[in-house]
Amino acid sequence: MAVFFNEEFYDHIQSPFHPESPERLKGIVQKLKHHGLWEDIIRSKTGSAEHLGLIHDEDYVEFIRTCGECNITMDTSVHRDTYAIAALSAECAIDAVTHSEKEEEPSFALTRPPGHHAGPNYGMGFCYFNNIAIAAAHLLDRGDKRIAIVDSDVHHGNGTEHVFAERSDVLYISIHQTGIFPGTGSADFLGKGDGEGFTINLPLASGCGDSTYDCAYSDIVLPIVQQFSPDAILVSLGVDGHYRDPLASMSLSSTGHVRGAMELVRLSEICAKRVTFFLEGGYDVPALSEVVAGVVGVLRGVDVPLEFADVLDDSCLGRNAIEQCRKNASEHWDL
Ligand SMILES: [Zn+2]
Repeated sequence: MAVFFNEEFYDHIQSPFHPESPERLKGIVQKLKHHGLWEDIIRSKTGSAEHLGLIHDEDYVEFIRTCGECNITMDTSVHRDTYAIAALSAECAIDAVTHSEKEEEPSFALTRPPGHHAGPNYGMGFCYFNNIAIAAAHLLDRGDKRIAIVDSDVHHGNGTEHVFAERSDVLYISIHQTGIFPGTGSADFLGKGDGEGFTINLPLASGCGDSTYDCAYSDIVLPIVQQFSPDAILVSLGVDGHYRDPLASMSLSSTGHVRGAMELVRLSEICAKRVTFFLEGGYDVPALSEVVAGVVGVLRGVDVPLEFADVLDDSCLGRNAIEQCRKNASEHWDL
């Protein structure tokens, strides 16, 4: 397991009290160091406009590069160094998937700023360039035939869905909380045109946690990804579904987060262990840090004790939503 990172990610600051703060990444790095997991970190170098252009419109990229100081939405602002750091974050994503392809082992891109809300010509929700979508497009550009994206951030990855909704070579599966930002991700939307059946949304009510996610993986995520038979699995890993998170109200524990990630690692045996995790949200720093360290720890054979392990949902609270999702998806997949 290789971890990709760059200290420059700390320099992206929106405002002093913004939840998407450098402290998130500093907490993760400190935790990884504490458990002896900060060796062999691979530092990504300068970002590339060419790679951003794989999914973003040229005008949009140029706008982020040249606008100086501006707000693109109420909660997402651009500063003079935003372009360089966000482009570096996208490059970190590409470096990680390239590593997994070459070495046939899992990788983790500590991308910051995050990316899954950014679309072809817009940024929002603390995202500017869509790191995971850029990495997927890069792999397809280099000859892969099918890429599976699993998005476990508590918010729907509207940008990623938008980029690939009409394509059959990228499977997008999102598990998210319904009724919160960005308001997209209905279970009825399964993609369009050639992409029909290749977008799977599982919106869950607040309160859902460990047992619901376990069912979601076993009943929806794992069988569909297996049938899709991807060349690589890319994961938008958010930790904002955690019961400690201040921005959402799901009840996943740290253990539940790590277990979900490990299901995808096990599944990656079908694609030569090419699985890459990309950091998306997660705004309670201690929970975020221990989940990331927990995932890296398991893959490096280091025991990271998880402090926030309370199981608040042990009866699959989201059963009805999972059943509805399974019913919709059954038109395209054997479930
Ligand atoms: Zn999120």
